[in-house]
Amino acid sequence: MRQKLKYEKGDAIGTCIFIEEGPVIVIGKSKTKKRKALFKCSCGKEFDAIILQVKSGNTKSCGCLRDSKIKQQGLKNAVHGKRNHPLYKMWAGMIRRCSDPKDFGYKNYGGRGIKVCDRWKNINLFIEDTYSSYVTGLELDRIDVNGNYEPHNCRWVTRKQNMNNMRRNRIVEYNGISRTVSEWSDELNIPYKRLLARLNNWDVEKSFTYQKK
Ligand SMILES: [Zn+2]
Repeated sequence: MRQKLKYEKGDAIGTCIFIEEGPVIVIGKSKTKKRKALFKCSCGKEFDAIILQVKSGNTKSCGCLRDSKIKQQGLKNAVHGKRNHPLYKMWAGMIRRCSDPKDFGYKNYGGRGIKVCDRWKNINLFIEDTYSSYVTGLELDRIDVNGNYEPHNCRWVTRKQNMNNMRRNRIVEYNGISRTVSEWSDELNIPYKRLLARLNNWDVEKSFTYQKK
């Protein structure tokens, strides 16, 4: 017969400290007998466990280690999950347009001083503010084309609406001043549609200065 090991209070078994042996428990149909004991976890909490499980390392804590692992894993999943979130690409595109001079949209956004508000630099807060009203296929539109990406200046629009807005809000730079076509139309006193037609065919200089002879 195998010698029954005797443990004493304070013995280190696995990652835990043995306190006192409890009653033997009988497990399953095979009626396997397991020795249980009271242990002290590295976190200070006392807990019951099967001695062999602690000895083999299958049981490493009162449960606190497992809990913190699950928490860590949950956090990883949350960050990882955001990359697959329906709004991730939109969020990342917005950040790039406003902050990365190498982005092809930068000149119309970051280059014109358009920023993403601090709150929305955090993808979680961006999702919190916008996701409840989002429907697949919608695009984020800034109500004031010269305004920032921030809650009160943004709304969801269809792609078609957005294209219309972009046309309406097309920015034209002339002599170092950037204005929308409709602003130039007012300023130059040229009807909007005529000005737009000119800009679609001519360069800015000619579109703005052309006089019928
Ligand atoms: Zn513990």
